[in-house]
Amino acid sequence: MINAQDYCLAQCKRYWPKGATSLSGLSIAQSPSDCLGETIPALVMVTMPPWALDLAPQGQMLIPEGLLVAGGGDPWERVDWWQSLAWFLRGGLEAAFERMHGPIHSYSYRLHNFPPELWQFAWANRMALFLRRYASRRAARDETEMFGPLPPARLIMTHDVDAIDKTVAITIKQSSFLFYQTIRELLHLRFAYAWTNAQRLFSFLTLRCNYREALMSLCEMETQLSIAAIYHFAALNLKQRSLVSRLLDPSYDLLDSSVQELLREITGRGHTIGLHPSFESWNDELTMTQQRCKLAAITRQQILVSRQHWLRFSWHSTWQCLVKAGITFDSTLGFNDRPGFRVGAALRYQPWIPGSDDSLKIDIVPLILMDSHIFDYSSLKPEQQESTIQSIIDELVFVHGEAAILWHPHTLSEDYGWSPSFLAVLKYVVSMREQGKIEVATSQ
Ligand SMILES: [Zn+2]
Repeated sequence: MINAQDYCLAQCKRYWPKGATSLSGLSIAQSPSDCLGETIPALVMVTMPPWALDLAPQGQMLIPEGLLVAGGGDPWERVDWWQSLAWFLRGGLEAAFERMHGPIHSYSYRLHNFPPELWQFAWANRMALFLRRYASRRAARDETEMFGPLPPARLIMTHDVDAIDKTVAITIKQSSFLFYQTIRELLHLRFAYAWTNAQRLFSFLTLRCNYREALMSLCEMETQLSIAAIYHFAALNLKQRSLVSRLLDPSYDLLDSSVQELLREITGRGHTIGLHPSFESWNDELTMTQQRCKLAAITRQQILVSRQHWLRFSWHSTWQCLVKAGITFDSTLGFNDRPGFRVGAALRYQPWIPGSDDSLKIDIVPLILMDSHIFDYSSLKPEQQESTIQSIIDELVFVHGEAAILWHPHTLSEDYGWSPSFLAVLKYVVSMREQGKIEVATSQ
């Protein structure tokens, strides 16, 4: 059976490429191993010591209250840091919530009454940075000499190919969304926003756009910037589909020679093809396996990476099914309705199901930002959109973490008009790369 300390030491290796054994001997408060159980704990802010104030927002770290051990001394000395870090990585809050209420399928609004700070910062990474500094301070040694230099942040650019042509289904879906937003803004008396959404609705219904061109120009642009992205493709059996699937899943056919030509063009430019398992597959290993095999057969490549369509996800089944289906890398772990750090982490790691003997054999990279966060789920002005993008990337850079960004290729066409924001993302990421603060994946 693994314990929290061993798990964190293994998963946070990017923070201690060497010297991890000295962390094992660090004196850390210990709470009973099952003290949180399957409960949703209260969260408290703990003030950090003067030499670590810079590692926490306003000098305070967010901790599950049950992991603050009773006794004397400053609160930070009474935190069970290993269990706190592990609690974030294993999605302790959401896993407990799901047991009580069922899967939230990646909608944060279904989680009630939690502070927004919970998802605003990469708490787990900040705890790893704290432990590194704490150990070097106790040993009176230089941090970099003891544990090695901190790596630059790492970003993986990803694209879910939900539409290749402007189909009736996608027109209904996006028009309904824009209509709903227009009405919502009117009800809130925000007439300028309502007018903007009404204009977007009109454009969407009237413009004839070529999504294939948008996809290929994106692919080419990334190649020119030396970015190797992941393009997730759906691989459904179009002859046997439920009504839900007809409405909500991508409807292109991998057997179509023009789609196969797109796949060849994408891989020919050095990008990776991943699987985009269908809306209803989130707890169905057989469907995932069939879809992975179909995509592998058509691309004549091993398909190892994946992201669930619509971020449909359950803590108690999705990754387990993906592992059985032969997937080794997944970046579903983000919210549909807000950007940020869903488990307070920006880290490539393997999930731990408490009670099991080992971590699940699948690499997770959290999804921290996608197009619809900025457009569909908020009414941000252009300058606010840019500051939202930058604050998320700044946090990733600050913690030297790893995470994924998602932009749907068809939204770069004229009828969505989301292209300027994607260019703002690229511009900011490339400027960070030029400063050596971030590396953008050039391979999986
Ligand atoms: Zn999708």
